[in-house]
Amino acid sequence: MFDLLIKNGRVLDGSGNPWVMADIAAKDGRIAAVGRLGDAASETVVDASGRIVCPGFVDGHSHSDLYVLAAPESRQKILQGFTTEVVGLDGMSVAPVSDTQKPGWRKHLSGLAGNPGVPWTWNSMGDYLDAVDAGGASVNICSYVGLGTIRLNVIGMEDRVPTAGEMERMRRLTAEAMEQGARGVSAGLIYPPSQYQSIEEIVELCRVAGRHDGIFDVHMRNESDRIAASIEEVLEIGRRADIPVLITHFKVRGKRNWGLSGALLERLERARADGVDVTVSQYPYTAGSTFLHAVIPPWYHRQGAEALIEALRTRRAEIKRDISERRDWENFSGILGWENIYVSSVNSDANRWCEGKSLFQIATQRGMEPVDAACELLAEEQLAVGMIAFGLDDADIRTILRHPLTSVITDGLLSGGKPHPRAYATSARILGRYVREDAVIPLEDAVRKLTSLPAAKVRLRRKGLLLPGFDADIVVFDPATVLDTNSYEDPMRHPAGIEHVAVGGMLVVKNGVHTGATPGRTIRDR
Ligand SMILES: [Zn+2]
Repeated sequence: MFDLLIKNGRVLDGSGNPWVMADIAAKDGRIAAVGRLGDAASETVVDASGRIVCPGFVDGHSHSDLYVLAAPESRQKILQGFTTEVVGLDGMSVAPVSDTQKPGWRKHLSGLAGNPGVPWTWNSMGDYLDAVDAGGASVNICSYVGLGTIRLNVIGMEDRVPTAGEMERMRRLTAEAMEQGARGVSAGLIYPPSQYQSIEEIVELCRVAGRHDGIFDVHMRNESDRIAASIEEVLEIGRRADIPVLITHFKVRGKRNWGLSGALLERLERARADGVDVTVSQYPYTAGSTFLHAVIPPWYHRQGAEALIEALRTRRAEIKRDISERRDWENFSGILGWENIYVSSVNSDANRWCEGKSLFQIATQRGMEPVDAACELLAEEQLAVGMIAFGLDDADIRTILRHPLTSVITDGLLSGGKPHPRAYATSARILGRYVREDAVIPLEDAVRKLTSLPAAKVRLRRKGLLLPGFDADIVVFDPATVLDTNSYEDPMRHPAGIEHVAVGGMLVVKNGVHTGATPGRTIRDR
């Protein structure tokens, strides 16, 4: 007697091979059998005639760190077929965190991970993962440990070189998090305090993670005018630390850099030929999304959240000068223009009207310059502002998507009334637009990029493939109708065509409707 039997489907096993006609049976959370299973007895039976049956999608870049506790049903992700999320991205995991650092860190992350009002009961990575398991979740969760978080615990937000003793403490914190199940270390080299880390410091900590079979997931120091140099930096880290590198949300930002993606991918191929295990991930949209205070130069973040808020009010002239004159940082508004930067989320009802508007529009309404409007809004909201920034070219997106090294991520920010649509519909956009409508890549390759490629990279040993013994995380979708139906104006719509989703052999989505089940588990083993 099986727990779940999915019959008559076109099974794409996640390897990239073409589909085979088969039934799939699950028992005790694992895949028990794949093949012609006839009328095998099962608790639950799904008829998948004419449908694709594939492994649950693995979101290798998620910002659900806090929302998985606040809203454990993870509707945004599971209704688009993601059954596993990797959190702790961009150098900014929510653990480990000391009690003294909690309030400031919470504020710093509020424009990214949101601030959904869950109590931060944890200190260590293990505590955090325990809290996720205790709350129950519809999806599986695993986490990187952020290099910025590690640094925060030892040096705070200060921009300086660590002492030998501090370096040793950071190594120890990294090792502890790895022993407690972190998948590797993440860096966000545009985000303080991760941004203050030198190559030497990162290499030291990556060596520790590498010894635990972890990987280095990196948001590069620059994705626009200095992207080539930034790639060299992360390749050097990979080489010196002997650690696999995953360049997260690989892209080319800013019109004057469009078209560079092909040459940059060739550079990565040469690095691989030289033995650096580098791959990339991507979201399929021409706009990015992060917290709005990324538009303020990093040297104003050095004393932490409160000092930054103070500076927004008292050092306005300097901030304006630095934004308009300095190009030695990832200067969003300088490269993209304020008219291309939109507010996706705020905290207060008074500023709710700003959601979905550009900084240019908000400034006009407020009768001030856009940079002033950005500073005022950030100060009023105590930094809890999310942004969406347009500046990528769809031709680059296609070039990157076609490349065999590229996996698909959402990088979805969940808070606010106008979140980036990628949080709700990334997978369906790939399968509907880039596969069915535009034939950019074949279906079996798209499924590989959503399943076995990201799973293998972060060492999820029983995920990403439909093979006996693997976890029974399974998606059934209609290849003829799957599509993202949302937009920047109307982002919170779940996609069409994702019909059934099982996690550990239990249906969490049935006929497109969330069942309320929470069979998700944290993943800590390697
Ligand atoms: Zn991110």
